[in-house]
Amino acid sequence: MSELVRSIRERYLSVLDQISSAATKSGRSPEAVKLVVVTKSQPVDVVQAAIEAGAVILGENYAEEGVTKIQSLQNASAVEWHMIGHIQSRKAQLVAANFNWIHSVDSLKLAKRLDRFCAEAGKVVPVLLEFNVGGEESKGGWQTSDESRWAELLVEIAEILALPNLRVRGLMSMPPLGETAEFSRRYFQKSHRLRDFFARQFPQADFSELSMGTSSDYEVAVEEGATFVRVGTAIVGSRNYS
Ligand SMILES: *Cc1c(COP(=O)(O)O)cnc(C)c1O
Repeated sequence: MSELVRSIRERYLSVLDQISSAATKSGRSPEAVKLVVVTKSQPVDVVQAAIEAGAVILGENYAEEGVTKIQSLQNASAVEWHMIGHIQSRKAQLVAANFNWIHSVDSLKLAKRLDRFCAEAGKVVPVLLEFNVGGEESKGGWQTSDESRWAELLVEIAEILALPNLRVRGLMSMPPLGETAEFSRRYFQKSHRLRDFFARQFPQADFSELSMGTSSDYEVAVEEGATFVRVGTAIVGSRNYS
């Protein structure tokens, strides 16, 4: 085992440990939480090392960068590739054809495009709908900071649920940047309430997944019901932007 694999493995196992403790502490089963190792802006050899270290779900933010890695690591067929970043309209086809999961469906228009390209690729892709629970202007996702207006979203969400080649599985959210992990808690709770709201409104649909929490706050996310946490720097180190 190389030094790189060894150090990633150590951090990967330690994050799994923390997930386990947080789950147990809040009366949840550790198996209910899946760890997405976020490898955006990391070179292929780091992604390869993460796979050797045990990562089974990899998260990427940029369509082209992700697809390049998927293609160069094709023989690592046991891993799942999850798209977690904003998807530009013109990248929808690339994403639909190459990724196993999409966490970042943030508009009806994008959902329709992805559905069309999934149909062309002959696949049905599990997706999460992304919501902006903090209300920041700069961020993608349906605006849901105002709880009294959630019902206004139902028509669009129903349209997405009817798309034949996307299978909605739940929600994704990213809280505003805070000083502490505790700061994120209210946003995780809000995401959880939003998920429960949709589950009540659409009892025939599947809203079981909740993707939330990053390196800085994933334990709190697990305590608040996350089923996917997306952890990058705490496992593969800081990103070297070139
Ligand atoms: C980068 C990113 C992450 C991981 O962030 P870390 O701080 O590196 O753990 C998670 N989710 C999204 C949407 C991201 O863009």
